[in-house]
Amino acid sequence: MNAPLDQHVLVLNRLWQPVNTCTARRAVALLYLGHAQVVRSDEESNFWTHDVRSWLAHSEEVARRSVNGELRDVVIHTISRAFVVPRIIVLGVYDRLPKKEIKFTRDNVFQRDQYTCQYCCIRFEPKELNIDHVIPREKGGKTTWENVVCSCIRCNTKKANKLPEQAKMHPRTVPKAPRWRPMFGLGRHSEPHFDESWRFFLEPSSARVELSA
Ligand SMILES: [Zn+2]
Repeated sequence: MNAPLDQHVLVLNRLWQPVNTCTARRAVALLYLGHAQVVRSDEESNFWTHDVRSWLAHSEEVARRSVNGELRDVVIHTISRAFVVPRIIVLGVYDRLPKKEIKFTRDNVFQRDQYTCQYCCIRFEPKELNIDHVIPREKGGKTTWENVVCSCIRCNTKKANKLPEQAKMHPRTVPKAPRWRPMFGLGRHSEPHFDESWRFFLEPSSARVELSA
């Protein structure tokens, strides 16, 4: 379990479109700077926004209620007051987020390749996937976006240290660095950091169904 301030917060732009996630620490800083407001929702997908003052008031209220009751929110207690850790923020005037480089990580390679083995084209769970060097490292292949693909263990073993031509195994798409997209990293709703309250923004179709029900 992450520390409360390391939790992921969904970031919405002024049009309430999801653009990113950040840590709760960053979200609180943006809130205090007046660059963002906290978005709070209930189970019926009603939404409220809060600036710092009203969020502190809400936090006090939640802390009071939590003395006896069930607690849905994560509350941290500073020396003087309670503070509910936000789950969603909406950006205000300063709407432009710096363009981010997508980090070259195993998980992001899996995501780029949509958890699909690039040789047999079957989709797998992350634990059943490997990183395959298209040009094997032994033959001078580098560990870069352009030379690694997602591969199932079976295909990875079959290809071993052979060149694509030798193994007659070519990746289905030419690997390259993924273009930055706001939603990159938010795609898998089964991830531990995914918060239920984000669903409304990340799955518009399910939100629509709920609204018309
Ligand atoms: Zn495969």
